[in-house]
Amino acid sequence: MPKYQIIIDQEKCIGCGNCANICPSSFELVEGKAKPKKIVIAKISCEEEAADSCPVNAISIKKTK
Ligand code: SF4
Repeated sequence: MPKYQIIIDQEKCIGCGNCANICPSSFELVEGKAKPKKIVIAKISCEEEAADSCPVNAISIKKTK
């Protein structure tokens, strides 16, 4: 089973909140920066949409083994 890792570039994140609004199960804002609620997920649902919504491209989703 593939797994996916959520990575948020803390330097790039401007805290707009898009990711947390679109995908609150996996993203939250902590002190003005987005944090992944889970580092590794088994299945992509809203995470990809959240990554696409990021205005500064701070979110990447990486396939792991
Ligand atoms: Fe940060 Fe991007 Fe999430 Fe906005 S959408 S809070 S810039 S990671």
